[in-house]
Amino acid sequence: MNVVQPSKIICVGRNYAAHAKELGNSVPERPMLFFKPPSALIAHGESIVIPAVSQQVEYEAEIALVIGERATRVPAGRAMEVVRGFTCANDVTCRDLQKPDGQWGRAKGFDTFCPAGPAVVEVADWRNLEIIGRVNGEVRQRAPISDMIFAIPTLIEYITHIMTLEPGDLILTGTPEGVGRLVAGDVVEVEIPGVGVLSNPVEEGR
Ligand code: ZN
Repeated sequence: MNVVQPSKIICVGRNYAAHAKELGNSVPERPMLFFKPPSALIAHGESIVIPAVSQQVEYEAEIALVIGERATRVPAGRAMEVVRGFTCANDVTCRDLQKPDGQWGRAKGFDTFCPAGPAVVEVADWRNLEIIGRVNGEVRQRAPISDMIFAIPTLIEYITHIMTLEPGDLILTGTPEGVGRLVAGDVVEVEIPGVGVLSNPVEEGR
């Protein structure tokens, strides 16, 4: 059972300088937005399915936030008022399809490519959050929220000056360095201490 039913899933690319660098990309001048389809959502414990067309499916541990009310043109100073809570998310990506396609709809849009959960949690001291990514129990990613290039209030201001956010909409705020490949049999975990641990096994598709 998914803990969120978003009308849209908005993702932020290259929001940590060290991750932009590890993929050979420059740091963006403004938030770089893309979407994942709500059909990609899976819950804590459900399987990520590797599509047969990709040889390089990667995890991206991300801090996600869930919108609590209809929000249009929200200034950064009031942005946290429209946030219902935080959850863990994994922006699963076919790295080998991303560049050849020229845009990311396919690489990031497969069914099961947006694990989110295990719960939506209200966080008062969100400035102290940290994101951790583990594969088979080994830490691969770890960064404080303060490493983000564009902070959460800035992202909400930017996004809501483009599109209206609806209750339940999900925003994935970018991944830090340390992304890597997943293979069938792996178990990938995204932890935000104080929010929860999202765990998903990986299986081969047909
Ligand atoms: Zn991402």
